[in-house]
Amino acid sequence: MADPIFANLPTTIFEEMSGLARELGALNLGQGFPDDPGPEAVRAKAADAVLNGYNQYPPMLGLPELRQAVAAHYARSQGLDLDWASEVAITSGATEALAAAFLGLIEPGDEVVVFQPVYDAYLPLIRRAGGVPKLVRLSPPHWRFDRAMLEAAFSERTRFVVLNNPINPAGVVLPQSDLALLAEFCVRHDVTAICDEVWEQVVFAGAVHRPLMGQPGMRERTVKVGSAGKMFGLTGWKVGFLCAAPPLARTLARAHQFLTFTTAPNLQAAVAFGLETGNDWFAEMPRALERSRDRLASGLAREGFAVLPTQGTYFLNVDLAASGIAEPDREFALRAVKQAGVASIPVSALYEADPVTHILRLCFAKRDEVLDEAVVRLARARELSRGR
Ligand code: PMP
Ligand code: GLN
Repeated sequence: MADPIFANLPTTIFEEMSGLARELGALNLGQGFPDDPGPEAVRAKAADAVLNGYNQYPPMLGLPELRQAVAAHYARSQGLDLDWASEVAITSGATEALAAAFLGLIEPGDEVVVFQPVYDAYLPLIRRAGGVPKLVRLSPPHWRFDRAMLEAAFSERTRFVVLNNPINPAGVVLPQSDLALLAEFCVRHDVTAICDEVWEQVVFAGAVHRPLMGQPGMRERTVKVGSAGKMFGLTGWKVGFLCAAPPLARTLARAHQFLTFTTAPNLQAAVAFGLETGNDWFAEMPRALERSRDRLASGLAREGFAVLPTQGTYFLNVDLAASGIAEPDREFALRAVKQAGVASIPVSALYEADPVTHILRLCFAKRDEVLDEAVVRLARARELSRGR
């Protein structure tokens, strides 16, 4: 008998749009991956580890040198005091870390508070684990939650909350006051937070990423998920980090043991090297991306598009309605890729209920020529949309 949860799922919007871009030869500002090839020294280290290193199964929890480097990095950059030996595990991407958290921790009937727009992997995995999602709807232009929204979502049945911060696709880096508010609800309802912080290093001037785990009362009740793919702009590497207090970490390790068991050792060695030596990269990478963000935003603004602010991630959002486009986001995105040669992500695809339908997400982690040409093509798509 078909599995109703997975069998009925569509192909994710990221693959759908990248597939169309490949097929049609369009510029791809949809799925989030950078044109920049990533730090050369880290890639050289990976190549060396493949040729001269150990390529058999590494330890199940990850190379000790990488687990130590992760703990040291989070101590330096976020003031966390993680014990590498009992609180850090390496996974095959943040996706596997999230799967381990959902499948390892959620019991059938547990309510899980989830914010929309929601990263595509969360809801299917939460349901597969038997969890019951309780959706909180965030909306533009500020995409923030407040006390009333949390009051409505949390109950005595709530066991987990899933927070993505910095938020993809919104480009919001949550301020201290919002984290404190969510922490208050977690403590009051004895809830565990599963925190997807893959964008933690991609934060621009004026914003500061703070881990929810660092809030009062959260150290023992937070699972923190990170991704080397996002930290180093090597999105295909799929090296993730799972950090949690020992009782949670033990359960997560059991789930990881039977999901992938281990993660490519050569890539782990290179990521450890990158974390130990990457201070210049961590300073320069966001600055370069910020220039790209500003280039795309000002190009779009010159063409009369209404662009929402972005504090982090590879993404900026265009308000289609305010840009004079009456079409819903999905129709406009399909028109833009098919008729104007530029792929994007319609944000409605990341809502399960009551979608926001007038926001288009664009990835600005691209070369200048690509961004400039994308502006021309988006303007063309708008003309076609108006003349329909
Ligand atoms: N969570 C979010 C919010 C993401 O944007 C992404 C990837 N882009 C992931 C998880 C998955 O990360 P990884 O590629 O390391 O599995
Ligand atoms: N995280 C990437 C994005 O938001 C996509 C990841 C994926 O394709 N699953 O674009």
